[in-house]
Amino acid sequence: MIYKAKIDANGCWIWQGHIDRGYGRMRKSEYPGRPFAHRVIYETLIKPIQEGFTLHHLCKNTSCVNPFHMQEISREEHRLLHLRERCRIAKALKQEKKQVSKNMAIAAEAVRL
Ligand SMILES: [Zn+2]
Ligand SMILES: [Zn+2]
Repeated sequence: MIYKAKIDANGCWIWQGHIDRGYGRMRKSEYPGRPFAHRVIYETLIKPIQEGFTLHHLCKNTSCVNPFHMQEISREEHRLLHLRERCRIAKALKQEKKQVSKNMAIAAEAVRL
């Protein structure tokens, strides 16, 4: 089996085949149903993924297929993990917006002076 992937500076194996919503997919001719490339490679090189479990990209690079960048966790745990992550990003964005409006207020002050 030949995997098409490029190794980047972070050690990520960037999938060079079909990408669907950020995730690499296997070729339909070889894998009917077109499974996720990172799952196929993990199962081939490491071990079968347990029922009800999913692979989380520790490197946050969803097109990466390096099995050593994956964490096998339950679907529920994975959902929560991403919810928390989204929360964190939302909070950071809010913080940034606050900072921007503060800077704009300061700039407006400066113009008025
Ligand atoms: Zn990676
Ligand atoms: Zn994940």
